[in-house]
Amino acid sequence: QSVSNCRELLFKVLVIGDLGVGKTSIIKRYVHHIFSQHYRATIGVDFALKVLQWDRDTVIRLQLWDIAGQERYGNMTRVYYREAVGALVVFDSTRASTFDAVLKWKDDLDSKVTLNHGRPVPAVLLANKADQAACTQTRLDAFCRDNGFVGWFQTSAKENSNIEEAAHCLVEHILSNE
Ligand code: GDP
Ligand code: MG
Repeated sequence: QSVSNCRELLFKVLVIGDLGVGKTSIIKRYVHHIFSQHYRATIGVDFALKVLQWDRDTVIRLQLWDIAGQERYGNMTRVYYREAVGALVVFDSTRASTFDAVLKWKDDLDSKVTLNHGRPVPAVLLANKADQAACTQTRLDAFCRDNGFVGWFQTSAKENSNIEEAAHCLVEHILSNE
């Protein structure tokens, strides 16, 4: 097999949601395989790169964009959203207010970036801290259907559950838009 058959894709993925829901923890767990109770909220935007050998001929580089210190405003600038092809929208299963904020984040996303053909970028909903609280499946199924999420996962950055599955789901939807 010649090298030229291999394709390498770079995808910009946003990780958004309210302060303290676990965005940074999810990224650290997924990319660096670590978890800590204490991540300093560095101000600005942070990047992490996750390289996936997707299949025999495809390497995917996921550029994960974390936000820090700007969550309180509930929206981000267009520059941050530019050329994103997918998003993980995170809430904290133990705090209802962070679930209420999910639609605000989804609206911000949809109003500031679309794919080339004008369709919304795929977004996966993460009910994080699943080690502390459970969600109602039928409720979240309906919520995702009604609000344009491609799927949802109960995740725990602490216990390392479902993060890879959620990312996999997002990548499959990103690829279907290629
Ligand atoms: P961010 O502000 O959205 O980036 O949230 P952080 O990643 O800084 O996490 C906020 C707090 O929640 C930290 O103390 C984390 O250790 C904790 N945390 C994050 N994910 C989980 C999780 O899955 N389970 C539990 N129990 N705590 C978590
Ligand atoms: Mg953070």
